[in-house]
Amino acid sequence: MRGISAFGAGAALWLATATAGMTAPSLTVLCGVDEVWCAAMQKAYEAKTGLEIAMTRMSTGDILNQIRAEKAAPTVDVWWGGTGDTHLQAGSENLLEPYQPAHERDMLPWAQNFFAMSGGRSAGIYAGALGFAYNADLLRAAKLPAPTCWKDLTDIAYRGRIQSGNPNSSGTAFTTLATLVQLFGEEEAFRYLAALNRNIERYTSSGSAPVKAAARGEVLIGISFMHDAVTQKEAGSPLVIVAPCEGTGYEIGAVSIVKGARHVEEAKRFVDFALSPEGQATGAAAGQNQVPSNAMASLPLAAPDISLIKMVDYDFATFGSPEERSRLLERFDAVLSATN
Ligand code: PLP
Repeated sequence: MRGISAFGAGAALWLATATAGMTAPSLTVLCGVDEVWCAAMQKAYEAKTGLEIAMTRMSTGDILNQIRAEKAAPTVDVWWGGTGDTHLQAGSENLLEPYQPAHERDMLPWAQNFFAMSGGRSAGIYAGALGFAYNADLLRAAKLPAPTCWKDLTDIAYRGRIQSGNPNSSGTAFTTLATLVQLFGEEEAFRYLAALNRNIERYTSSGSAPVKAAARGEVLIGISFMHDAVTQKEAGSPLVIVAPCEGTGYEIGAVSIVKGARHVEEAKRFVDFALSPEGQATGAAAGQNQVPSNAMASLPLAAPDISLIKMVDYDFATFGSPEERSRLLERFDAVLSATN
């Protein structure tokens, strides 16, 4: 009889979990969208396939760091959701497996461009614009002016009243950093970030936490994707959502298969589901408001109309490069140390 080791570590893990009375997951997915959507997607995929999958919600930068750290022996099969420039960074570091999804030809042009830009390693699943939102009840009670522009957020009136994500962990906050650099130029953007830092109550690990805190009245202003704020507003919170007057950036959320994934065929099936109208509908069903990438998928009723928002021509190639990411994050950390 052959020993367990002849079947490799994967078989040993399966035997260990089978002995403990558990079923080994057929697929391991790290999920970069909101927890609610992660859970809904897992349920929908398991119901469709009859398979059990492991799905964990993490912030986008943390997913990139985990996939980097596991390069020699990946435990993750699919990275689903989270900002696309971070997927592009992983692709440039040869951490992702190219795959042509079944529904690629049904994708909207921005998603097809993104797929081509990634060298066929990452597919766009949704788009959404960055902005901020304030709690109208708190604003009225404190008799403060309503902010309408990025530059307003540095007003002393908002000292300690703003939350933003930390771009080291949050894809949303990295999009904010890249957006400000594209809007104002790098030197002015970092002067702005130093001024904004004086008003920041807390940098959160997750990118949607700031608008959730504003929705609960814990902080006045949250910087996040506008679709995250719409979800909070739809749930009844007194948020006013702002598309900043100077213009703003946007994300293309993506899905990728990890290079060296242990369940490649199942990973491909998951990606196909994620791009199908059925898979994309799980977002709206879970109360999410991103714009789906499949032209056949229906738009969530409350999704912000991206065509009406003044948008930068977001440079995914530049801000999707690992060198640019490291450089900007180092500079961001230096600004925080200098102004704290
Ligand atoms: N939640 C939603 C709804 C998003 O669209 C995104 C970005 O793709 C994220 C969360 C990203 O989360 P984080 O900023 O924590 O990486």
